[in-house]
Amino acid sequence: MPVERFKASRMTKGNRLFPTVIEVNDTSVIRRKRSWFTLNEMSIHLQRVASVRIDTGVMWSDILIESTGGADSLASHGHKKQDAVRIKTLIETAQSKQLHVGDDGPMRVCPFCAESIKAAATVCRYCGRDLPSQA
Ligand SMILES: [Zn+2]
Repeated sequence: MPVERFKASRMTKGNRLFPTVIEVNDTSVIRRKRSWFTLNEMSIHLQRVASVRIDTGVMWSDILIESTGGADSLASHGHKKQDAVRIKTLIETAQSKQLHVGDDGPMRVCPFCAESIKAAATVCRYCGRDLPSQA
């Protein structure tokens, strides 16, 4: 999957000089935000994304990507609606590709320990952690 980048509109608050950039690649979603002296960058591994929420206003869409950890959700505002939808689609497509069929039926990869577990599992049998529900 090629890397795709989505830049927030310079017309929106906080994005005039240094628009926030959301980047989605094979493994993670990354938010980059420049200021005069710093580059603030945070990323969430795609398998740790618990939900992607889009809040569309009159002109622009806000995006909120929540991680399974809960602590470090990734928010960005001032995106075009089609970009927001594209980001959500990319993340969900990448997540569903992690599903594969094993001897015991459909499997997926635990976002915490990366072991293969049954797709329907709600608790990982290797690390014992609660798993995000797979839509
Ligand atoms: Zn696990």
